[in-house]
Amino acid sequence: MNKYYTTEAERLADSAWRNLHLEPPIDLRRVCEHLKIELVRLPMYPDILGLYMRDEDGNAEIRVNSGMPIERQRFTLAHEIGHHIFSRTVYGRIVVEFRQAKHHLLERECDKFATCLFMPAGQVLDVAQQLGHPQRHDKTHNLAARFRVSAQAMRRRLRELGIDNRFR
Ligand SMILES: [Zn+2]
Repeated sequence: MNKYYTTEAERLADSAWRNLHLEPPIDLRRVCEHLKIELVRLPMYPDILGLYMRDEDGNAEIRVNSGMPIERQRFTLAHEIGHHIFSRTVYGRIVVEFRQAKHHLLERECDKFATCLFMPAGQVLDVAQQLGHPQRHDKTHNLAARFRVSAQAMRRRLRELGIDNRFR
């Protein structure tokens, strides 16, 4: 089950890049437009990151808490797009994202989807190759800037992809 979902998250994120001919850093607005998701940024209670909802007619909307740091907002948005994609047959539903840790499998899969959406394996490899072989630390930072994610997130992704040792 877990393995299936993981593959699915990567596959879906990858097909979004290919279908929309995306370039790093990803334009999440374009993804929302393509999926016909209404996007609203507005101040919310500080313990809420955002929410995803789809009405009975299938109209989807994502709300992101504009009070959060911008990187957090972007990650939340990508996570909510994951909800949209993973539950495309579910109508009349609201998912509220709280700041506390997520244990549910679907929540972890939406996180995984968000990570893959920001940093698809193929794209990360391509850009890493284009950047040549400067010192490892600089390269991670350059990659992070290119994909507009934190250096920490990029480091984690590189480790996950098993390609960080190429920089040594
Ligand atoms: Zn969620």
